[in-house]
Amino acid sequence: MGTLTVLNCLGYTGAFSLYSRARRLFQHELLAEIGRVLRCFSNVGRTGGAQELGLTSYCINRYGSIIHEFLHALGFHHQHSTHDRDNWVEIIWDNIEPGFEHNFKKYDVATVTQFSEMYDYYSIMHYSAYAFTSNGKPTIKPLQEIGYEIGQRDGFSYTDIAKLNAMYGCRIPA
Ligand SMILES: [Zn+2]
Repeated sequence: MGTLTVLNCLGYTGAFSLYSRARRLFQHELLAEIGRVLRCFSNVGRTGGAQELGLTSYCINRYGSIIHEFLHALGFHHQHSTHDRDNWVEIIWDNIEPGFEHNFKKYDVATVTQFSEMYDYYSIMHYSAYAFTSNGKPTIKPLQEIGYEIGQRDGFSYTDIAKLNAMYGCRIPA
């Protein structure tokens, strides 16, 4: 967490201070409903009025899941939603649970901006290989040999921080 504080001008030292900063960014009350929701969720970016964030008891115990939802609230889509994602991953539509295909939608470059960063398999905003699987088989397959699992929720990747700082005009200290 110390590293994040240095690298990121949002200045949070934990999920709840990020929450405070997010409140200031939005100038609205940001609601985190904990343990009484059925799924972890957030709208992407400011929607006007109170910004609702859903964190189930499962998500609230996973640092990376909290950060993932806050990044949605701060304006980030999923990594695999970039316009060029088909150069990096294969979406295996036949393995996706019917009704959940929208989670694998692509957006144009104006909607999901990469801020000059490369596609990031290690992003905390990337789904896991088995996200929304209907049959236990992968729904997302990396097209490159990367040597680790996609969908990590341990913390920000270097690129996540770079994009967050770019979006909010933060300078990374030398
Ligand atoms: Zn998400």
